[in-house]
Amino acid sequence: MLVKEILNSTRPALSFEFFPPKTEAGFDKIFQAVSDLMQLKPSYASVTYGAGGSTRDYTANLVVRIQKETGLTVVSHLTCVGSTRDEIMSILEKSAESGIENILALRGDPPKGETVWKRPENGFDYAADLVSFINKNYPHICIGVAGFPEGHPLTPNRLKEMEYLKAKVDAGADYIVTQLFFDNRDFYDFCERCELAGIHVPVIAGVMPITTRKGMIRMAQLAEGTRFPAGLLRSVARAENDEYFEEICVRWAAEQLRNLVYNNVRGIHLYTLNSSRAIFKIFKLLGVRDATQF
Ligand SMILES: Cc1cc2nc3c(=O)[nH]c(=O)nc-3n(C[C@H](O)[C@H](O)[C@H](O)COP(=O)(O)OP(=O)(O)OC[C@H]3O[C@@H](n4cnc5c(N)ncnc54)[C@H](O)[C@@H]3O)c2cc1C
Repeated sequence: MLVKEILNSTRPALSFEFFPPKTEAGFDKIFQAVSDLMQLKPSYASVTYGAGGSTRDYTANLVVRIQKETGLTVVSHLTCVGSTRDEIMSILEKSAESGIENILALRGDPPKGETVWKRPENGFDYAADLVSFINKNYPHICIGVAGFPEGHPLTPNRLKEMEYLKAKVDAGADYIVTQLFFDNRDFYDFCERCELAGIHVPVIAGVMPITTRKGMIRMAQLAEGTRFPAGLLRSVARAENDEYFEEICVRWAAEQLRNLVYNNVRGIHLYTLNSSRAIFKIFKLLGVRDATQF
């Protein structure tokens, strides 16, 4: 099924993001989390693409395996960093052969150690170019793109940024999934800015339940620019041990979800970090058995 069809539902769609293992042996562990989370009746799942395409084959393998074993719709992430047009074409051909019909089209970050973006030879500059390329060659594919409620670190000009986002939608993107955020007001403001910029596709809210102090520090590095609200920081500063830390963050994420559902969002994308534990806790706190009760 195409994600754009799922997003036509009257209740919020729930999606889970997984990342592929670095080795063959890691598949079973991830698959355990996938199977557990199926109890929550997600609308679809997505699988990330390693930085610079490092886990390219594993992404496709995991997408196909989840699709086959669970029957769930799965979105395959694809970045154009470090790839030529011909390489992207061959990835798209293989994806089409495997029955993949949903792609999250991204540019990806510059390779490690580089802060300035350089277009790969015979490659693409921006995600918008990848979106047009997919749309032209595989018009049946449903395309999602990334959005940044708190801004993308490489574009401090917030007006330009909305123009660039609109270019992705004008090139054929069907929906936007946001970077994680901890204050829903940033998301609602972003949605309003999208409307004002003439972007009318569904915007899916990206939420990540952080569970450890180390994880928080790591996310601050990976999702640069993400604001950790004072209320959250004050609470975790008081956490006496890891258990309390997790409890506080899970409650924070549950409150984000409760508020998003109350405000009729089109979709919620949960960054699972390949673990089901925190997600089950969130659902318990919300008092819902699964996503059909949203
Ligand atoms: C939901 C989500 C999923 C992700 N999944 C992955 C993944 O699986 N693998 C991975 O490696 N990374 C992933 N990322 C990270 C993403 O690849 C990086 O954040 C990347 O830096 C931006 O990608 P983009 O697709 O938004 O790029 P773009 O939309 O191309 O934007 C990149 C930068 O260029 C600027 N820009 C865009 N167009 C122009 C223009 N015409 N002129 C000048 N500047 C311009 C933008 O403002 C931005 O600063 C994900 C991010 C999100 C939010």
